[in-house]
Amino acid sequence: MSLNAAPSWEFSSASGRDNYEKALEDYPGQAIVDLAALKGNMEEMVRRVGESGSGAQVMGVVKADAYGHGLIPAALAALAGGATWLGTAQPREALRLRREGIGPDRCRILTWIYNVDKAPLDDLIRADIDLAVGSLHIVDRVGEAARRVGVPARVHVKVDTGFGRNGFTPQSFDSALDVLGPLAAEGTLDVVGLFSHLAVADMPDVPDFVASTDAQIACFEDFDRRMTDAGMKPRIRHLANTAATLNRPEIHYELTRPGIALYGYEPDPSMGRSADYGLTPAMTLQAQLSTVKDLEAGHGISYGRTYLTSADTSTAIMPLGYADGIHRSASGFDAQGSTGTTHRGGPVRLMTKQGPRLVRVSGRVCMDQCILDLEGKASTMGVQEGDTVVLFGPGRGEGFCEPTADDWARAAGTISYEIFTCLRNRIPRLYLHVPEVINPEDMHLLDPASIL
Ligand SMILES: *Cc1c(COP(=O)(O)O)cnc(C)c1O
Repeated sequence: MSLNAAPSWEFSSASGRDNYEKALEDYPGQAIVDLAALKGNMEEMVRRVGESGSGAQVMGVVKADAYGHGLIPAALAALAGGATWLGTAQPREALRLRREGIGPDRCRILTWIYNVDKAPLDDLIRADIDLAVGSLHIVDRVGEAARRVGVPARVHVKVDTGFGRNGFTPQSFDSALDVLGPLAAEGTLDVVGLFSHLAVADMPDVPDFVASTDAQIACFEDFDRRMTDAGMKPRIRHLANTAATLNRPEIHYELTRPGIALYGYEPDPSMGRSADYGLTPAMTLQAQLSTVKDLEAGHGISYGRTYLTSADTSTAIMPLGYADGIHRSASGFDAQGSTGTTHRGGPVRLMTKQGPRLVRVSGRVCMDQCILDLEGKASTMGVQEGDTVVLFGPGRGEGFCEPTADDWARAAGTISYEIFTCLRNRIPRLYLHVPEVINPEDMHLLDPASIL
């Protein structure tokens, strides 16, 4: 009987259980995504936006394969939770959503990053996908495509209010309006919206950052005025990411664009825990242990000997590595190791006969595996090869020792966003609570083998 540090998963049917068993045969690690959590997180964002009284709609940002959670399942869960827009950075993902059956009758889709000389603009316009336009060159190309297709292109004017990324600057905006005006007047472009992105809304406790967000908002409103004065009053203004959707209700305008909240995380741990916002992390990453063995004190662990066992102990192989997207920066060093410095490796929830324990990546993360110092005898703990461990999950309760992606982000010196989006697709994605969230007529859009 192997020990299991993961929750006992609720399978929707016997075939769900079979799919789980097959996934375990296929690969020693699995990313299990709870669609009910995704839907509930979107409902929570929609509820909050409703409370602000703005009447704003909510876009589920599903770029980068829905932050690694799987584009189609996450998009359907977002729609089930009340999103009326979906957003992808890359046009390919926007087109895929439309192609797989999420038509214009179901939601609007906005896409915002492309090499405009090569992107399939005609297909995007035909698929009724809204396009971000943030440079004169992009406006020209989108205008040409709209003429070719014979349908007005729906565009959102992207402006740089201080982020320093895409969009027209205040200085370049007059020339943008000069070009946009005639294209709108002749019906080549349907200038739907105005949008921008915030740089520091995720740190509402830092006064300088609050002032900086205030300045971005003032700048945005100035752009809005200039468009209105030029006869192109934007119908849909949007500025709020997750952070601003949560803590700046006054700037919900007509649409907000939360991403990370959909997946159950707050944008920055300094904002508190996701549970404080009624959000539930949707993904659990688990793995089945490979070799478990005893080692004597002073034994080097992994490349570079950055970690030496401090006592007689047991180790276990956790068979996911940097080729799976486990950050090498989440390696563990101890003071006896070759660097002479201590760095706490990524945390892993391990089940023992005595209850759950947190152990850590010890030594360097390898390509396909990491080593865990169990800090004790595996035989005493009852830990064996094949036991299931959890790298991160929803972070259930205090005594549970369940890490979240925020804990991995801390260990790796990054943010939760990068923890998910780096997970490679060789790790199977499996979905919980599918029948509760996905309409029967959409069920065929999911890979049947992915349904638990
Ligand atoms: C990624 C992204 C978002 C969502 O940001 P979160 O911090 O995940 O809420 C919103 N808007 C744009 C333009 C983005 O690129």
